[in-house]
Amino acid sequence: MSYLRRPIDEMAAYTPGEQPAEGERVVKLNTNENPYPPSPRVLETLRALDPSRLRRYPNPMADKVRDLVAGLFGVGRENVVCANGSDELLSLVMRAFVGEGDAVAWPTPTYSLYPVLARVQAAEAVEVPTREDFSVAVEALAAARAKALLLCNPNAPTGVLTPPDAVDALAARFNGVVVVDEAYVDFADAHCMGLATRRPNVLVLRTLSKSYSLAGLRFGYAVGPADLIEGLVKVKDSYNCDAVSIELAAAALADPAWMQTNADRIRAERTRLSERLAALGFAVTPSQANFLLARVPAGGDGRPWYEALKARGILVRYWNLPRLADRLRITVGTPQENDALLAALQTLRKEVTP
Ligand SMILES: *Cc1c(COP(=O)(O)O)cnc(C)c1O
Repeated sequence: MSYLRRPIDEMAAYTPGEQPAEGERVVKLNTNENPYPPSPRVLETLRALDPSRLRRYPNPMADKVRDLVAGLFGVGRENVVCANGSDELLSLVMRAFVGEGDAVAWPTPTYSLYPVLARVQAAEAVEVPTREDFSVAVEALAAARAKALLLCNPNAPTGVLTPPDAVDALAARFNGVVVVDEAYVDFADAHCMGLATRRPNVLVLRTLSKSYSLAGLRFGYAVGPADLIEGLVKVKDSYNCDAVSIELAAAALADPAWMQTNADRIRAERTRLSERLAALGFAVTPSQANFLLARVPAGGDGRPWYEALKARGILVRYWNLPRLADRLRITVGTPQENDALLAALQTLRKEVTP
């Protein structure tokens, strides 16, 4: 017998990508972190932080960041809620909109945290497979009967972007809340922020973890209709964002040009890496994110490639899952990191392929 609730007892825990020990030298292309540092304003703000700020509770709504976000997108502060990363926002979404036994839908494959959150909630998962080319089956998703729909856009781990007009049509037809997880959107050609206030049932989630180079800070925000945001506020911890992260997030968001420059460099490298992988015999799904999903040559399994790269100090992501087991997900790194990967793959091509 277990003291745990049955769904928790029975579920598999979410497996994050591995993080090397401090000081360990690896080429880390496995968790879609940004290879470039955050804006220098973040470090300046950290250095200047008055330690007495830590004695008091932070502003419960992170209003400083809320107002910045409201200004960036031309919405009101009541349309924004901040959280300890997008992962917390997803958790709040589940708590606010999806009860025990309710259904929640998403396309597959997608971000592997979604099924974990559904299990925690004892909710029913409605999984709608993407098409052969990993494009999202919008019609089938729109017809799903669920309280909420989680749409990672661009999707992970495929990098495929569902165009905003298709998401708009989806939101018009879907009978529930459409949650657009835009963790990678700064690397894409289009975004869905416009829907967040135009549609009564669309929430857009953003994070500073990827494009703003602040995965360690833990900061994300959601934009949407005031009544939906109010629901998220009701279920969040009073002080879900700490005093330090609020100040540093504000500093980062006040310098979007820095983020944009890095995103542009990563997009350029994405093109180069994609072409070089193709030349090595990999089939690369066209990506709008800061990673590439690449099918290994000769119809083989991805695992030996993943393991051989790891043995050489290069981390990528591999999933032993339907439609993914013959692929690697590779974060776009600096030109030097990508070159190290390409050189290793060139050597491995002779060893791994039958
Ligand atoms: C990285 C990621 C997140 C998590 O972002 P955090 O703000 O670091 O919690 C959310 N959704 C997707 C799809 C991601 O890839």
